[in-house]
Amino acid sequence: MSQYPNSPLGLSPHLWDVLACPCEKHAAVEADEEASEIVCSECSRRFPVRDGIPVMLMDQAGGHLHESGSSSA
Ligand SMILES: [Zn+2]
Repeated sequence: MSQYPNSPLGLSPHLWDVLACPCEKHAAVEADEEASEIVCSECSRRFPVRDGIPVMLMDQAGGHLHESGSSSA
């Protein structure tokens, strides 16, 4: 159940005002409603939404990246 049924991906409209891709262009992002993901308009990275919170992290991004970002320690 979404708090914001009229807003893309059920995220707060205010959130969409401030959301930007963490890539070097800090580009605007848009919703991919089918995939329930956020997509950068510049670099096409895709970010998941978990529990209604967009995960705007480079190492969580999908899309055309081919690094496997599992480097801890
Ligand atoms: Zn980007």
